[in-house]
Amino acid sequence: MDLSLTRTVTKLSDGRELIYYDETPGHDRSAPDRRDLPTVSTTSELRRDPLTGEFTTVAGHRQDRTFLPAADQCPLDPSRPGHPTEIPAADYDVAVFENRFPSLAGDTGRCEVVVFSSDHASSFGSLPVARIRSIVDVWADRTAELAQRSGVEYVYCFENRGVEVGVTLHHPHGQIYAYTYVPPRMQKILDVAIAYHESTGGCVACDALAEEKAEGTRVITVGEHFTAYVPHAGRWPFQVDIVPHRHVPDLPALTAAERDELAALGKDCVQRLDALFDGPMPYIGSWYQAPVATGRAESHLRWQLAALRRAPGKLKFLAGSESGAGAFMNDISPERAAAMLRGEG
Ligand SMILES: [Zn+2]
Ligand SMILES: [Zn+2]
Repeated sequence: MDLSLTRTVTKLSDGRELIYYDETPGHDRSAPDRRDLPTVSTTSELRRDPLTGEFTTVAGHRQDRTFLPAADQCPLDPSRPGHPTEIPAADYDVAVFENRFPSLAGDTGRCEVVVFSSDHASSFGSLPVARIRSIVDVWADRTAELAQRSGVEYVYCFENRGVEVGVTLHHPHGQIYAYTYVPPRMQKILDVAIAYHESTGGCVACDALAEEKAEGTRVITVGEHFTAYVPHAGRWPFQVDIVPHRHVPDLPALTAAERDELAALGKDCVQRLDALFDGPMPYIGSWYQAPVATGRAESHLRWQLAALRRAPGKLKFLAGSESGAGAFMNDISPERAAAMLRGEG
């Protein structure tokens, strides 16, 4: 699919890439980065735990990263006289740049920051649908581009929202990690999909979606191209899975009509989460898509919003059972969560 946005690739003063995605053509993106940034030495290292077979990325340089700066010191704002930021332009629509303090770099992959808006006080759920539509295009474009890079096995687009989930910058933004291996949760999902396909000939995600739609009690919205529902065995107090009706492997495979509906439906779901309790809902928005090279036929794209507030002032913590045993306990029934998200109290 052709990109409807105008993409301009530039470099920051320490050599990192900055990419402007403009909704209208004709912007001058030549403003130079006037900071004299030292190159951050990245010592990221992938280590395999012999007991679990899982990888840990050790990135000691990240301890020095920016942590909740004052609003007038935000590094994601447009640059203004006396306050040069990560984005030299005086305004922008969506901007993507290589993280200055990446967990993954060089041989271990790449970390990008996706800035959703130049408006510091905005949030994903309060952006216009047209902007969210642009962000969907950016996610798809980054997925396709990062998948071309040598060694990349998985592109994970996500958003951490709220200090409760460890956000270190309030400015509305998401991140993209390009891993050189398939992360364990994605590998698990893929293994299940492949086994299901071998035994039934079908797709486990297509069948689960059909069952949720038939059962109906956990469905939040059904569109023409997507359904949003709280899964039967959801792990999080308020978990919303947004699933395409068509069996598509990844974001780049979505048509323009699908992206249009996805933007409106995604905004609606985040607004429903924000409306549940007092104040913005802390959540992790994750895109589960096909790995770069394996299991593409079996993979079914999914956007999962995992919201952590279970009641006013009460957060879900990953404690003993979840962190120590990997066994999730959910205090809110998915049926009740879905009813609340539908506005049924
Ligand atoms: Zn800002
Ligand atoms: Zn499917």
